[in-house]
Amino acid sequence: MAQRERIVGGIGADEEYWNGLERGVFQLPRCTGCKKWMWPAHFRCGACGTWDLAWEEVKPEGVVYSWTRTWYPFDRTRERSEDVPYVVVLAEIPHAGGARVMGVLSGPEDKLKIGAAVRGRILAPSPKSKGYPSITWELA
Ligand SMILES: [Zn+2]
Repeated sequence: MAQRERIVGGIGADEEYWNGLERGVFQLPRCTGCKKWMWPAHFRCGACGTWDLAWEEVKPEGVVYSWTRTWYPFDRTRERSEDVPYVVVLAEIPHAGGARVMGVLSGPEDKLKIGAAVRGRILAPSPKSKGYPSITWELA
């Protein structure tokens, strides 16, 4: 396992997400009781109350739910300063009940719009991503 910078503020329920990406697998948590997808990750299902969750592999395909362009380097993303300006996409994943997963957009931007199809590509951990693997979205 790569050494990751500890990100303060999370509850740690998403650890398996990062472990999956490190293995090249895009997976999201799902309740084993009512089958509801949960992203962001939680330890307990908000719909039925069970603590029994499973991580299921999902095709990294979605549609642009929203996006924004980052024009300035922020303190907590200083490692990406050289990439400014860059686009961050919130992709809605139909294969996971419409869960929305954030990632930086890579590749051409000419077809970027709400509803555009995107495909995810998993990137290995790097200093730029604070030692975390990441998913980058590309317009399909
Ligand atoms: Zn449930």
